[in-house]
Amino acid sequence: MLSLKEKDRPIVRKLLCAGCCVRCVLRFCCVGSSSAYRRPYQDLHKELLAFISEEASHDASVEETNDGPRSKRARMDEDSFSPERTDSDVCPVCLGVLQDFCDPTFAKQVSDAVKEQQYEFDSLVLTVSLPAQLSVREHSCWLHIKKEVREKSMCLGKEDVIQVKDAFKWAVQGKIGQELGAAVVANSPCEVSVGFIHPETEEDCHFLADTCPDCFKPTKNKVSIFTRMAVVKALEKISEERFSRHYPCPPKKANTRCTALDTTCLHTSVFIAGRYNKFSRELPQTPWVIDGERRMDGSVEELIAAPLLSSFRADGFNFSSSGREDVDVRTLGNGRPFAVELLNPHRAKLSGAEIRQLQETINQSSDKIRVRDLQIVTREATSRMKEGEEEKTKTYSALIWTQKAIDGTHLEFLANIKDLKIAQKTPLRVLHRRPLAVRQRLIHSMSTVYLDQHHFTLKLRTQAGTYIKEFVHGDFGRTKPNLCDLMKTDADILELDVESVDIDWPPAIPD
Ligand SMILES: [Zn+2]
Repeated sequence: MLSLKEKDRPIVRKLLCAGCCVRCVLRFCCVGSSSAYRRPYQDLHKELLAFISEEASHDASVEETNDGPRSKRARMDEDSFSPERTDSDVCPVCLGVLQDFCDPTFAKQVSDAVKEQQYEFDSLVLTVSLPAQLSVREHSCWLHIKKEVREKSMCLGKEDVIQVKDAFKWAVQGKIGQELGAAVVANSPCEVSVGFIHPETEEDCHFLADTCPDCFKPTKNKVSIFTRMAVVKALEKISEERFSRHYPCPPKKANTRCTALDTTCLHTSVFIAGRYNKFSRELPQTPWVIDGERRMDGSVEELIAAPLLSSFRADGFNFSSSGREDVDVRTLGNGRPFAVELLNPHRAKLSGAEIRQLQETINQSSDKIRVRDLQIVTREATSRMKEGEEEKTKTYSALIWTQKAIDGTHLEFLANIKDLKIAQKTPLRVLHRRPLAVRQRLIHSMSTVYLDQHHFTLKLRTQAGTYIKEFVHGDFGRTKPNLCDLMKTDADILELDVESVDIDWPPAIPD
């Protein structure tokens, strides 16, 4: 059943004598069939005992003829091994991970924890995090049987031994998948994490810090320097001789088994894109907070994100857009492209009809904004929104006041200006959050609609990123040339609307 060979017998015996659990024995015999690890512990235990007792009786008969009557029992006792040894002992190599934790009851416990979090998924990837000291114990066990393994088995190196992680997954993931009605695969947006700790043996790793100080550098975010990565690295460097001086081979017995950490689930982000209009001059794009105090109720991103968060049952969101408008600026026309990253969504798939309904919900929630072309996109696609942003053009409409009384003829020359180069020093109003720089921008074209002696509407097509307000009033000479210079009068901007943002992303969705 276990496809163990004659040559495996001394290895099996040596490992059982060291107190190893049956699944660790299979691992070190390089049994690579996943079904073996799924079999009930008791069955495996019985089978392995039967397997080595064949050898023992064989040896005993040989020894009787050569050295007199040495019983099978006497030989076993030499290694303080008894077949009656209770299999409830904690395996000194996996510290119990491949014992009780491979039972269907633990798989059920993990599945129940996942169910409680109410994710919707059709596949999942199982990740396992093991205590770092398990690597030390694995190494110790490997050194203990290395000679026999190299001589007698197909395994040539430590890397041929089946890893605890893999053996654990083989044992439990079928049952977990079955309980959850999902395929357990190597790559899935939904990750179920199982973790173990073993406080009793935490100090196992500590000697490595003296033998390989380079591997253990304190890092800000880590609780302990003894990360699994650091321990594995140190074990690669340490000589066998030095290792055995500091650590017993085989590893010492432990009194307690590992403790399982709470099962956690994490779904990769879902990205939603669309375009929004903003019809209010009292709505910031993002929450407006000054000195920890909120200045205005609501924001574009909150109005859009709230229904998304509840539909996708996400933990949080990141909002981004192609440029942004000031609180008092409206965004009209086709609207401004935006993307929302939904963090850890518990639901990730919505039908086209559901997305349309969601767009409707957003639009009915407020008359200050409106969204269109709402759709699920990939993370990669959202970068298209920012790509070449600087080269894109935007169209604005501004209500201008002039100090000098004007008539239509004063405005005609503006329509003749094409691709006007302007230099803009970072505006005073954004200097607290943007570095000081001088940026060249292009005003592609302008047109006007005369209103009265002191007012007209100015339409502009400009390079994206142009500060329109500063182009009009000059920002104390920080934008040159500006509309005041051009018109030879003091002028100010009373209202501003974004008429279009010329980025053809996300793709339009027909009604
Ligand atoms: Zn074990």
